[in-house]
Amino acid sequence: MGQDILSVIEPWDGNGVITRLDPLTGTWIFIALHDSTLGTPTGGTRIKVYPELSAALIDATRLAEGMTYKWAGLGMDYGGGKAVLALPEQPLDDNARQGLLKRYGAFIESLSGAFKTGADLGASADDMATIASRCQHVLGVDYDTMDSTDPGPFTAHGVEVGLRAALAQVFGSDSPADRTILVQGLGGVGAPLARSLAADGARLILNDLDAHRAETLAEELSCQTAASDSLYSTPCDVYAPCAIGATVNAQTIPQLACRIVAGSANNQLLEAEDAERLHQRGVLYVPDYIINSGGAMAISLQHTGLTERDELMRRVAGIRPAITEILQEAAASNTSPVVAARHRVDRILAQRRETI
Ligand code: NAD
Repeated sequence: MGQDILSVIEPWDGNGVITRLDPLTGTWIFIALHDSTLGTPTGGTRIKVYPELSAALIDATRLAEGMTYKWAGLGMDYGGGKAVLALPEQPLDDNARQGLLKRYGAFIESLSGAFKTGADLGASADDMATIASRCQHVLGVDYDTMDSTDPGPFTAHGVEVGLRAALAQVFGSDSPADRTILVQGLGGVGAPLARSLAADGARLILNDLDAHRAETLAEELSCQTAASDSLYSTPCDVYAPCAIGATVNAQTIPQLACRIVAGSANNQLLEAEDAERLHQRGVLYVPDYIINSGGAMAISLQHTGLTERDELMRRVAGIRPAITEILQEAAASNTSPVVAARHRVDRILAQRRETI
């Protein structure tokens, strides 16, 4: 186990990982600080049971790196960071969870502003309010009312505008009407995305691990569902992964029967080579950390005092021109949009480093 941890840290190019065990619950806390060129490392808190500790550390370090690129892509003054609370296998009762979150909040406060956080997978609005009760560094919580903002609808809006940019690139029209779109994962992002695409006339195919959730939404939107075992070979124009990471990999890419992959999940590609595999198959991939940045953008703007929902949605729609530029640059140089997106954020980070 010790060696596993070291082998995760060794090749990682981030600033460092703050590690702490919460002895009362047996929860390991990893706060990965990847890069502070643009500002304070900032990213969500993921709360999850992991099969092993090294998987939690891998999640924290990869997601923190993604946050560096996400903030740079947005041109916002935050650095890349992410926290993972690796829960013990035995479920925590409400009291134990509350205690853990309060101690975690106090721990963040003790870092004197070195890390700011928000919600991520497994962290509810109530959880974020509990963490915020012990520290001043939670984005997405209104410190006057302690109300918490759900980033999901903002992220969904960003995915929709990014998906439209990809449709325009591939089909010459950005309209989802009569396009077949497979949405995998119908939670905080996937459900509002599906509703919005349905309203725009898309032919939807829905999938969720929770079959009841998929069937209920399919009934509401009068569309089909797809079984998980044949999901990746389902013919469609767009595959929108909005559930878990690493669904696009050497096994699934040959099965894909879509022209575009555009969704909210973080770390959609299992490994770097998958970008080229998609490119070789003629599948346009919209890089995850750009297309799923709407929620991060909205809650960080809220933190600066911009609270009007329509204006936040309008600002989130501003992701689209950046995505269009990335897709066009990739097409012009016959490379994957992953390469073009990375060039873009590396340019932004290099420019800032020159001024430091
Ligand atoms: P969520 O937990 O609200 O919903 C996830 C949904 O996916 C659930 O309905 C769950 O049942 C389903 N699911 C889980 N595993 C699945 C599988 N193997 N196959 C099919 N369905 C499965 O999460 P969310 O907030 O909607 O986020 C979805 C994804 O988008 C996550 O990867 C998250 O990291 C990423 N993301 C979310 C936001 C946000 O604002 N919420 C922002 C950026 C990225």
